Amino acid sequence: MNIHEYQAKAILKENGVNIQEGQVAATPDEAVAAAEALLAETGTNWWVIKAQIHAGGRGKGGGVKLAKSLDEVRAITEKMLGMQLVTPQTGPEGKKVSKVLVAQDVYYPGPTEKQEYYMSILLNRQSGRNVVMYSPEGGVDIEEVAAQRPEKIFKEEIDPSFGVLPFQGQRIARNLGLSGKVAREMAHFVERLYASFVAVDASLFEINPVLKTTDDKILAVDAKVNIDDSALFRHSLIEQMRDLSEEEPSEIEAGKHNLNFVKLDGNVGCMVNGAGLAMATMDIIKLSGGEPANFLDVGGGANAQTVEAGLKIILDDPRVKAVLINIFGGIVRCDRVASGVVEAYKKLGNIKVPIIVRLQGTNAEEGKAVIDGSGLKVYSAITLQEAADLVKQLVG
Ligand code: GDP
Ligand code: MN
Repeated sequence: MNIHEYQAKAILKENGVNIQEGQVAATPDEAVAAAEALLAETGTNWWVIKAQIHAGGRGKGGGVKLAKSLDEVRAITEKMLGMQLVTPQTGPEGKKVSKVLVAQDVYYPGPTEKQEYYMSILLNRQSGRNVVMYSPEGGVDIEEVAAQRPEKIFKEEIDPSFGVLPFQGQRIARNLGLSGKVAREMAHFVERLYASFVAVDASLFEINPVLKTTDDKILAVDAKVNIDDSALFRHSLIEQMRDLSEEEPSEIEAGKHNLNFVKLDGNVGCMVNGAGLAMATMDIIKLSGGEPANFLDVGGGANAQTVEAGLKIILDDPRVKAVLINIFGGIVRCDRVASGVVEAYKKLGNIKVPIIVRLQGTNAEEGKAVIDGSGLKVYSAITLQEAADLVKQLVG
């Protein structure tokens, strides 16, 4: 699950990570009140107004603005709230801004240079351990650093039974070019950041930039946090941070029916049991000249209800020109799935696109007989090749 920057920062702060202080606001009045509160609390009289959407690259799209007076706080917030913010990560339609974070300006002038670093924590699936990935070249596109100057990206693998050990914190600080007191600050920052990652069952932390202020403090200025969905049951407060307006409606609906569904941009809907078979089916669709409109794994216990729910979600997408249902009958019997498809078809009614059903495994022949005998516009296939040929014929 993805959360907003202001929520991510609250989690970090609670776990002892230094952050750029701020308050969320949904109206210009709230933004001004937030700025006044920050002034009273921290003495800051410059603020940054940051659009809260589930996408990065906001700075580039005009979603991060510096305000040098309370009037500017109001004016910027008025403009930002309600806008469709387009960033390199949102796609051309952009995302609607309904909240902003009013944050303390932490890029103030001072005796020494400010410096932006990159830091993320993620799982290395090969070693089964979390890795702290970091670079002295933060703030900018980390993808560009990785491509052009890979030697500027460092990794520190963490032993799950110890967390970040002191020598690892020191090594990270050294590789970031730090020494003395601020190096100890950085080591402490990494140690707390890693502890929070573990505490909330995160699957990704990305802090870009981590800032060394001109008075040598280390702060998280941005925070992208993903929480492992499978662990949400033990973090009810975080679960409440879910912002459904940021999620794909068809994916929300699929979640209610326990379907593993990911929306894609193609024209052939597919419904499959098993993730591996779903991947193979998407390949077949592409090879036949179509483009998959979705990934949908109905799981091992496919029945009439799941088939109906899945079919409805697929057919709600106006781009879908054909649907390929590819079911392997292992525990689930093909004739039952076939009856489910026929039932769903009748129930949904007014289906304009062709449906191809390929059944293989237990009772496949009986299943095909059910489809063929239904009199509905459902094409049946037994082999994958037959199914592919039908897709080609119908959308190619
Ligand atoms: P992103 O563009 O979505 O990654 O949003 P960030 O939170 O990373 O902000 C983008 C950029 O805005 C940062 O890299 C900074 O250069 C700038 N920025 C963020 N906070 C401040 C601040 O307090 N003061 C100033 N002057 N600039 C800031
Ligand atoms: Mn950022």
